[in-house]
Amino acid sequence: MIITIDGPAGAGKSTVARMLADRLGFEFLDTGAMYRAVAWACVDRRIDLNDADAVSETVAEISIQFESERIVCNGRDVTTEIRSAEASHAASIVAAVPAVRLEMVRLQRESAAGHDYVTEGRDQGSEVFPDSECKFFLTADPKERAARRLLELQSRGQSGSMEEVLAQIIDRDERDRSRDIGPLIKADDAIEVDTSRKAIEQVVEYLEQTSRERLAISASKS
Ligand code: C5P
Repeated sequence: MIITIDGPAGAGKSTVARMLADRLGFEFLDTGAMYRAVAWACVDRRIDLNDADAVSETVAEISIQFESERIVCNGRDVTTEIRSAEASHAASIVAAVPAVRLEMVRLQRESAAGHDYVTEGRDQGSEVFPDSECKFFLTADPKERAARRLLELQSRGQSGSMEEVLAQIIDRDERDRSRDIGPLIKADDAIEVDTSRKAIEQVVEYLEQTSRERLAISASKS
């Protein structure tokens, strides 16, 4: 069974998806981390991110592995490095390259095959797992999303101002919405959940209840 959670940057997808997976006894797939890892590999090779051919060559050559909560690219643990504001920006550039999307979608479907997964990203319900019977689309007021992102950056010892972070997420959402392949979009059959001014616990509670009803997951499965 696959549960998809999509939405713009800072809507709370990762936290909520991780908690939901935990409660249901499902595995969790952070697809944003995969695009971030590709961007990291390109930057590591000093490739111009706007050179689609060079980015395509890179994605064909690298290896990406998930080891529990860690993400390993070409044998190197990049879990922390891929979380900076620069990495977010770089990820949204390489994510528009068709060869990158094709390979990430292939990897996502391959990892999920035969497993119970909560998967989160931008295109999970619309493109990658269109047959999922339980899809969510998380949104939140842009200022609140920026405030959450700022807190997240600060908790990692990184700096930034509210204005900067707000401008960055608006810019990234715009790029994610306007690309030709796998854009950020709500699948027609996804349930939209506005997380503004809601406690995480309250959102997770709602998602858990809805998932259990839709997928007829027994209470004992957790
Ligand atoms: O979710 P996160 O902020 O980690 O994603 C980083 C970037 O990766 C996004 O801005 C987006 O460009 C890209 N992404 C994507 N498709 C996904 C997940 C992430 O294009 N399924």
